[in-house]
Amino acid sequence: MTLPRTDTVVTYPSGDLTSTGTVLHTVPLPDGRTAVVLDRTAFHAVDPVWPDQPADVGTIAVDGRARAVVDAVVGATDGDVFHVGDAPVRTGTEGWSFVVCHLVDDAAGLTPGSPVTVDVDPEARRALSAGHTACHLASLALNEALAPLWTKEVPGDGRGRPDFDRLAIVTSRILPDASRDEYRIGKSLRKKGFPAAELPARLDEIVASANALLAEWVATGAAVSIQRESEGLGDRRLWTCALPGRTASIPCGGTHLRSLAELSGVEIALEAVEAEGALTVVMTTTAHPAF
Ligand SMILES: [Zn+2]
Repeated sequence: MTLPRTDTVVTYPSGDLTSTGTVLHTVPLPDGRTAVVLDRTAFHAVDPVWPDQPADVGTIAVDGRARAVVDAVVGATDGDVFHVGDAPVRTGTEGWSFVVCHLVDDAAGLTPGSPVTVDVDPEARRALSAGHTACHLASLALNEALAPLWTKEVPGDGRGRPDFDRLAIVTSRILPDASRDEYRIGKSLRKKGFPAAELPARLDEIVASANALLAEWVATGAAVSIQRESEGLGDRRLWTCALPGRTASIPCGGTHLRSLAELSGVEIALEAVEAEGALTVVMTTTAHPAF
């Protein structure tokens, strides 16, 4: 069987919840499930290299018979080997094709060439999109709240503020109407001019300042969009939001709300833990849906 040589066309960046496509390739997995690759899909898959947003919940139907997609992961091939969720390269790497692997327990009828329909659970998607949009806003608000602390110049974020988020992030997890980001402030960040020792005593002040910014931003109801030049899974996409003063852009592979008017509020909480010479800061972000 020939391996796919082009990326899956993904329609979820435009907010699509349903898509029609054709089965290109199927891979039986050791656990009994089957990975199904389509030419195009609305289904968001988790990227094992940076697994921030979980897979969508939904179904795939062939001949009018729908079955659950039990998980979805990014697959990749260099033309010789097909990797289901364990590619040795970052998504988007030149010379590789990146595809959505829809994992199903029941692959009956899902043979190459079959026309299929994919449907994504709207409420699960909305909650993850709200969590992801809130996560990006929170990272920008945190960067701005921490900006006065830096003693040296460092690369700026999508709004030109010192990019603490990018320099310190260890993990990011998008949850329904929430997110959790973990930052590590070790030696290298201290050398770059971040006064880690001052932070624990100033956490409340930072949280208050970030939350005031978030309230101001959400109140604008600004439009949110994903900018992209092409529709392949591995192609670069930018989350863009017209925040007061300056439009922000952040590279992002996930799904988002269309506007901040879909939120009534976003709040962060910070927790700092000092261990083994490094300070770990956990930011929990909560998104409140407007309706
Ligand atoms: Zn993102």
